Amino acid sequence: MNDGIGESRKRQLRKEIPALQAEIQALYRSLDRKFNLHAADVPITFGFDETRLGAYTPPGGGREEGFYFSLLFVGFLSEDSLHRDDKLDLYRHEYAHYMQFHIEIPQEYQFQSGLHGSAWKYCCSLVGAAPSEYYRFGKGMERHDYEKALRNPWKNPHAALLDIAHRKREAEDSRNRMIRYRKGDTVVHPKFGTGTVEELEQMTGSVRLTIRFSDAVRKIDQKWLLRSNYKKRGS
Ligand SMILES: [Zn+2]
Repeated sequence: MNDGIGESRKRQLRKEIPALQAEIQALYRSLDRKFNLHAADVPITFGFDETRLGAYTPPGGGREEGFYFSLLFVGFLSEDSLHRDDKLDLYRHEYAHYMQFHIEIPQEYQFQSGLHGSAWKYCCSLVGAAPSEYYRFGKGMERHDYEKALRNPWKNPHAALLDIAHRKREAEDSRNRMIRYRKGDTVVHPKFGTGTVEELEQMTGSVRLTIRFSDAVRKIDQKWLLRSNYKKRGS
């Protein structure tokens, strides 16, 4: 396996494990105290993953609960080591995953599913992690916009307006589907004059009328009848 890093380098990085572990556990202990959790007691393993910076594995399914961090990114002497603030953000990111598994998430933050959904972002807002599933260098130093990350689309006024428009359209559709005329009804049209309804056809979302006018028989959607001021006569 060619993993691009020599054995001696690995040995060197492994020596940092106790210091890294102490650093992470100190952070987790302070968060644990705040939220009455026990992440500092969860085992942490280290490896040399080149694509995965960190991970949290919840207990269950025969797996043991644990945190994982790649020494390539968190090792103090690693060439690819993250900036200190980004490292802290990575630790908080994984803590948020742990937290999501161990706390009751309020109903209002359950609108978006997924590993990095709204429940996780809610935890990020509590622990101060960047609410983004992607690690971006320098992210740990940014100010995080939790309000934006946790905005429920159904609380967004624009979405609410879209919803109202959608419901209006639905109501209109169902109105259009309702048959408003009967066979034999007399209607008046400004252009075609008086006509008699001969047939009614229920279509999806509309009603098509066959109307005999003095000059011709025309098929007209009931919707246009109503809009163009056809008058229903008789009962
Ligand atoms: Zn994640």
